[in-house]
Amino acid sequence: MEKLYAGLDIGGQSIKGVVLDTRGRVRRELSRVTPSSEGATAVLAVIGAVVRELSLAGAIASVGVGTPGGIDREGVIVGIAANISGWYGTRLGEEIATMAKAPCSVRNDGNIAAFAEWAVRGGRSRGLLFVGLGTGIGGGFIEDGRILGGRNDMALEIGHIVVEPWGRSCNCGVDGCSEAYASGPSIGRIATALGRGEEAMLGTLARTAAPAQSWLGSPLAARALSGELFNAHEVYEAYAAGDPLALAVDAIASEALARAISTALAMLAPDTVVIGGGVLAGSPHLVDRIAGLVPRYVYEDAWKHCGFEKARFAHKAGLLGAALYGASLVVDRSELLGLASRASESI
Ligand SMILES: [Zn+2]
Repeated sequence: MEKLYAGLDIGGQSIKGVVLDTRGRVRRELSRVTPSSEGATAVLAVIGAVVRELSLAGAIASVGVGTPGGIDREGVIVGIAANISGWYGTRLGEEIATMAKAPCSVRNDGNIAAFAEWAVRGGRSRGLLFVGLGTGIGGGFIEDGRILGGRNDMALEIGHIVVEPWGRSCNCGVDGCSEAYASGPSIGRIATALGRGEEAMLGTLARTAAPAQSWLGSPLAARALSGELFNAHEVYEAYAAGDPLALAVDAIASEALARAISTALAMLAPDTVVIGGGVLAGSPHLVDRIAGLVPRYVYEDAWKHCGFEKARFAHKAGLLGAALYGASLVVDRSELLGLASRASESI
C-alpha cells in the first residue's frame, strides 16, 4: 500500500492540513477556521475532522504538526501563542496520533518551516536560519538536519529580538521587538500612524526613512488621513507604485529585520538565511534589501559567506514542512530529501 504523509498547521485563525504521497504530490489539502474562543475540546474536534478528511486519501504513515509557541517533547502545549482559550496543557501529540493511528510529532511552526527549507535545499546547508514574515515573525534554525529547538521548542523567536529599546509595544509585553516593526499588521499600523502624522515610536529607525514632509503628498498618506487602516498588502501595493510613505515604511521594516537578523548571524553563524511568509509575497525585494543592510550591524565574517534567499516553499513552508517533518519520523534521510525536492515541484 502506498505511504501517505500528513501535515497539520494549527494556528489561532485556521487549521490547515495536507497529505503528500511518496512522489511528493499533494493528494489532499484543506483549511478550517479555528474555533479559538470555544476552548480546546472544540479545537480538537475540528482537528479530528481535518484528520478524518485527510485519511480519505488512504492510510496515513505519519503526521507532523506545526503550531506557534512552546511545545514540550511529548507534544504537550506549554506556551500560549495561538490565542486559543484553554489550550495550555493540551496533549496535542498524543491526541493526533490517536486520531490518525500513526506516529505524530508536534513542533513550533517556525522550526517546522525551517526544516522544510533545509530539506528542499538537498540538506546541503550546515546552518540554515529561517525567518517567516506574517501575522507575527517566526524563525527556526537547522544545524546539519537537526532543529535547534531549545527549551520547549522556543528557540529562534526572532520576532522578539529588541531592535529599538523603548520602541513600539509588542504583543509579548516587551517594547521594541522586530515584530512591532516588520510583521504584516505592524507594517500596516506604522503606515497608518505616519500617514496621520501620529507618533509611531520609531526611535533610531526613523533615521532610515525619508523625513515626514516628503510623504505628505503621498496617496497612501491621504488615505490614512481619511481614516483608512492598512495591512501590509496595501502598503506594498502602494510601494510598487512608488508611494513615498510606503517607501518609508518599507525602509523601517527592512532596517528592523536587518538588526534582528544580524543578531542571529552573530549567534548562530548560518551559511543560509531563508526569508519567507505571507508578507514576502508583496515584497520579494526585502531579501536583497536585508542582505545589503546586514553589514552595518554585524562583523564581516558573519555575513560574507552567508547566502540570503527566498523561501522555496513560499508561504507553504509551514504546512508542507509539517508533512515533511512527519515523514522524517518514518523514512531515512535520502528518501526525505527526495520527497522534499519532488514536493517543491508540485507547488
Ligand atoms: Zn515581542
